[in-house]
Amino acid sequence: MRKPIFMAGAIAASVFSLSPMLSAQEVSEKTIENAKTLRAAALRDNSAYDILESLTTEVGPRPAGSEADKLAIKWGIEKFKSLGFDKVWTEPVKHTGWARVLESAVVKSPFVQPLQITALGGSVSTPEGGLDAEIVHFNSFEDLQAAERSEVEGKIVFISNRMARTRDGSGYGPANIARRSGADETARKGGLAVLIRSIGTDSHRLPHTGQMAYAGDVEKVPAAALSNPDADLLERIFKRGKPVKISLRVETKDLGPIETANVIGEITGREKPDEVVVIGGHLDSWDLGTGAIDDGAGVALTVATADLIKRTIKERPRRTIRVIMFGAEEVGLVGARQYAEAHKDEIPNTHIIGAESDFGAGKIWALASKVSTNSQHVIDKMAQLMGPLGVIRAEVEAGGGPDVGRIGDKGMPVVDLKQDGTDYFDLHHTADDTLDKVDPEALRQNLAAWSIFAYIAAEWPGDFR
Ligand code: ZN
Ligand code: ZN
Repeated sequence: MRKPIFMAGAIAASVFSLSPMLSAQEVSEKTIENAKTLRAAALRDNSAYDILESLTTEVGPRPAGSEADKLAIKWGIEKFKSLGFDKVWTEPVKHTGWARVLESAVVKSPFVQPLQITALGGSVSTPEGGLDAEIVHFNSFEDLQAAERSEVEGKIVFISNRMARTRDGSGYGPANIARRSGADETARKGGLAVLIRSIGTDSHRLPHTGQMAYAGDVEKVPAAALSNPDADLLERIFKRGKPVKISLRVETKDLGPIETANVIGEITGREKPDEVVVIGGHLDSWDLGTGAIDDGAGVALTVATADLIKRTIKERPRRTIRVIMFGAEEVGLVGARQYAEAHKDEIPNTHIIGAESDFGAGKIWALASKVSTNSQHVIDKMAQLMGPLGVIRAEVEAGGGPDVGRIGDKGMPVVDLKQDGTDYFDLHHTADDTLDKVDPEALRQNLAAWSIFAYIAAEWPGDFR
């Protein structure tokens, strides 16, 4: 057994030495030393937390198109300027606005029980005076799809499937279809409104909002989410086997066309200023919390990353580091899509590599990439330098995040600094998304990993494409 394994190793080593990997540009000793300096500095640095404290305290909830969103844009410009970024500007983002006015639900029979609900983003209102109707229970969106029209017609639909808790957030996608498409499927079968179990992993009595969408081919019916304990309660009531009637009231406002912005700040590269490393998060948030973990933390971290590099390393990195605070993410990645479209011709030439922070404020545990074979060793080196922070090199291909991933779609290589999201969906899109949930030590760990990535990406002279 031993000998073949040894032989295999020797063959692999000799193949490796003939591969183009070794002719690819190594990361210089000086760059590695500077990355280590940044790592040490980040672990003593509270700037990410301070920026997040500023955003959540001075702005708070900031849905796209709201007055607070305008304030957030001003805050972003001022923050970049006060930190001494070399260039600061905004690019317009156009969309339509939506606002919640009020929402309430009560079980009327067989037992009277008030329910905690929140309207889903984009939902229409219930008719004047609200809806009083029988409610029908489905265990999943698929069960609703399979239902006969006669089961749903004239009723309110309740979809009760629960999202699974995972470190990587993989439970979100499968559960999310009820939120995105529950209303259309209900309307197709003649239903009056849809109530879903919140897409969240907590047991608090706080419902989770989030964007839903109408396909436009059927009538628009209201959509709202129940907190997890309320969904449990409703399921128990259904187990009694009697018809269940509820009273539902949702009032929302269509704000019409709105203009928001992507807020952009740069640390200009000393040698290749036109080549940019893109980092960022989204500036807008839902209206229920103060958007601390979604995505104040991502904005704060990426701003702090560029700032830390500027403060800590004597000369500017070879390439430009561009920090983008994306607008209108929550309502459909709107700022990111408009940025990618506006810059599509230059992205393949000038956007060297990018990454996004939009998965809360938990520690980073893995580094994944989608880069050329000739630059894999650079990402490996980054992961090695992140090793002491508890970060491993991930085998999976990176997606780049909801916003930066859209630039990736246009040809920019991407990495993912994967955060531990085990608790992320306890708070996500709820009133509980507030600053006290953020651990300053975890933010410092994030900052250390982010500065290793951004600095080496901007300093290493080779190509990731
Ligand atoms: Zn987000
Ligand atoms: Zn979100």
